Amino acid sequence: MEFKEIVMEMPPDFDSADVERELAKRLGSDDYAFRIEKQSLDARKKHNIHWRLKVSVAKDAGALEEVSDRPKLNIERKKRDAQAVVVGSGPAGFFAALILRKAGFDTTLLERGSDVAKRASVISEFEKTGKFDPRNNYAFGEGGAGTFSDAKLTSRGKHISVERDFVLSTYISAGAPPEIAYLAHPHLGTDNIRKIVEKLRSDFEAEGGSVLFETTMTGLRTENGRVVEVLTDKGPVQADYCFVASGLAAYDTYQSLIDAGVSFQAKEFAIGHRVEHPQRLINKAQWNAESIPGLKAAEYRLTAKPADAFPVYTFCMCPGGKIVPSAAFADSQTVNGMSSYARGGDFANAGCVAAIHPSALCFDNPNPTALEALDALRRIEADFAEVGDGFAVPYCGIQDYIKRRMPGELPETSYPMEMAPVALWNLLPRPVSSSIRKGLQDFSRKIRGFRSGVIIGLESKTSAPVRVSRDRVTMLVDGFDNLFVIGEGSGWAGGIISSAADGIKAAMRIV
Ligand SMILES: Cc1cc2nc3c(=O)[nH]c(=O)nc-3n(C[C@H](O)[C@H](O)[C@H](O)COP(=O)(O)OP(=O)(O)OC[C@H]3O[C@@H](n4cnc5c(N)ncnc54)[C@H](O)[C@@H]3O)c2cc1C
Repeated sequence: MEFKEIVMEMPPDFDSADVERELAKRLGSDDYAFRIEKQSLDARKKHNIHWRLKVSVAKDAGALEEVSDRPKLNIERKKRDAQAVVVGSGPAGFFAALILRKAGFDTTLLERGSDVAKRASVISEFEKTGKFDPRNNYAFGEGGAGTFSDAKLTSRGKHISVERDFVLSTYISAGAPPEIAYLAHPHLGTDNIRKIVEKLRSDFEAEGGSVLFETTMTGLRTENGRVVEVLTDKGPVQADYCFVASGLAAYDTYQSLIDAGVSFQAKEFAIGHRVEHPQRLINKAQWNAESIPGLKAAEYRLTAKPADAFPVYTFCMCPGGKIVPSAAFADSQTVNGMSSYARGGDFANAGCVAAIHPSALCFDNPNPTALEALDALRRIEADFAEVGDGFAVPYCGIQDYIKRRMPGELPETSYPMEMAPVALWNLLPRPVSSSIRKGLQDFSRKIRGFRSGVIIGLESKTSAPVRVSRDRVTMLVDGFDNLFVIGEGSGWAGGIISSAADGIKAAMRIV
């Protein structure tokens, strides 16, 4: 049989045997091998919600392999007398370290937090007692920010297909469900990604890589445009190459980099809150049913371009998930969302943010420096913490936000800690909160029942408000011969896949 690509529609609760039956019917034979290349849910017509599949078919598995000739990473392994130090074990840092080790570099990965098991127990204690640990929280610790997340693996990054394939196949080899390779909206859930992070780290160590937990980079010692040592709270680490992948929450690390001569500029980002609804309300609005066998939980993605206002959009929606207190420092308040693989929780949450330039947060300063932008953001995060007197999250109803009236009764939510009813719209500069208000009005027209939801806390971590100056080709930080600032904190990437891809690309520059 010749190789063929077949597009088919399948019901929401189809299984592999259904695909085989459908193929046998279409091919008039059951002597073939097949592979699903793409699978996406078509929910445009609520009376006909179905999966759309693109399937490759050939005479046997070998023939299928031959035609899937996608370019792959070529990691040349050889003896290299060079020490690479990577700061941060999130997707950018971890994947950079993995490539460097595979290529033969002596590779040391530094992480300010603990291993994922200890991190998980510290976070659970924090939610019960309010005792905050600056080393281990939703932002810091092994695996980085996305370890306690929905672990959506979507990315709008361009020109990263080779790196994305590498990340997905690495995750699959570490136990991820194979469907992440072909689903249009793949996700792992926090339960899967925690196990994967642990497994990948032990593989990395088995290959000779070294991981130093509870070790914080505090500065860089440089000579003539080269990093010679990474300074840490446990002493210096010698480096021939240095990769800093410290994420977007580590204000102290931004300061260390700037002190070492690394140049950043303020850039556009987004800020706002999280909205939450009962998941069954979202299912009803999106599917016209409270549940559909075979489907987990309905998603949404909304955008609004209100007149005379900043664009507003929903971000990082977590179906069947919960809102989490994701601050990296005790004196700041931010929230984010996470879900398990089953997405079986009772609530749906999403960031609801306005796309702004940091100048919108820096009154009377249209051109803030990177430090001024970071300071302005930090001040807002501190204001939210002050209003909530710690980790009680400020909230109001979406309807309250729209009508600018004080919230009434505490609604049911997934947030695991206390909640403080406040005039939430007053906590952001007026042009920003007015834009969000208009966005909420627009979204209430698009999703039935949207107004009845709750709007919570500060969502300030959609992407970094600054961008490092680095060479587009070599990816080296301007003015340095051996320093790479990568991942979300660099301002050149955002999200798990694009940050991992950024780390891989940088590592491949020296491989
Ligand atoms: C709750 C939550 C949910 C999210 N959900 C998703 C999602 O579903 N899908 C998605 O694509 N993205 C999601 N994100 C965003 C995603 O996690 C980030 O985009 C991604 O992790 C960025 O990767 P990174 O490696 O650049 O940085 P990070 O993952 O932030 O990792 C940085 C690491 O550096 C360490 N570090 C910082 N400073 C130092 C220092 N000085 N010394 C040593 N170590 C240091 C930190 O402890 C951390 O482990 C979520 C984020 C959060 C917080």
